Amino acid sequence: MEFREATLQDRREYFAREWNPRDLPSFITDYFRFLEFAFDNDGTGPNDRYNAFSSLDELSSRIRKAAPYAIYSSVSHYDVPSQREGWLRAELVFDIDARDLPARRCECKAGEVCEICLEDARDVALTLIETLKESFGVSKLFLVYSGRGYHVRCTDEEAMSIRDRGSVFTFVTGSKVPSDLFMVKGYSSAFRRMSGVTLSKMRSLAMRGGSTLLENRDSIIEALTSRDKMRLEGIIKKKALESLLEELSLVNAESVDGKCTIDIKRILRLPTSLHSKVSMVCTVVKNWEKFDPVRDATPHFLKEM
Ligand SMILES: [Zn+2]
Repeated sequence: MEFREATLQDRREYFAREWNPRDLPSFITDYFRFLEFAFDNDGTGPNDRYNAFSSLDELSSRIRKAAPYAIYSSVSHYDVPSQREGWLRAELVFDIDARDLPARRCECKAGEVCEICLEDARDVALTLIETLKESFGVSKLFLVYSGRGYHVRCTDEEAMSIRDRGSVFTFVTGSKVPSDLFMVKGYSSAFRRMSGVTLSKMRSLAMRGGSTLLENRDSIIEALTSRDKMRLEGIIKKKALESLLEELSLVNAESVDGKCTIDIKRILRLPTSLHSKVSMVCTVVKNWEKFDPVRDATPHFLKEM
């Protein structure tokens, strides 16, 4: 997978020939008039903010004319989006950037991305989705490939009105060790699920005896996820287990960008827009298991090379 930056010519070609406003997802079009749009016109950052549009046509002609480097829209819905006033609600979102993943199977250096860590990022996203469904009963869930990772976006009314997003973040990402690791449901279940995925991707453990633990990782994950206390205590001593759970809770938290969930002033890359740094299309993922960024999110101008 070769990433390259899109030129102005590439962007013009993409927005003129390939991009279609009818491909915008419902969570954008249904709330269109409440959204703030932001543009990165030339690659210097999304500093063209406070934009609002009264129709898709208006947005389209702006986009086709400028062929922006990047396009974003607000997670919050406002009565007056052009002034960011009259806050109504905000999507509940989770941002998993493959570049920042603390637990990944590849050997990418900081800031690099490959097919393996993109897959690891998707596994984290799908794990969060499972917990959101199981513990929060939400159903309007969207997985979006951002170009270098994934966004989970949730638009159930109840979820969008949640004010304390810090607690939701801790719960869904499994960012603290539960008081009872083996409870069937609730937070313990969320923690075990996320910790299993994290442990399966880690290439090293910071704790003492970490490498021996990693040799037994499959058995540990199996005992953990099947709530087999006896077996788990047979593989790993009590003190070491405590340290392991502590380390997993920290890595779980670092796997997802907490600021993005908590700060409702955030903007997120607009699905269908171009991530020009890597020439990939920000795409709503329809088939969660089979999505392949190279096949499904590469713009034509790159395929034709
Ligand atoms: Zn990688």
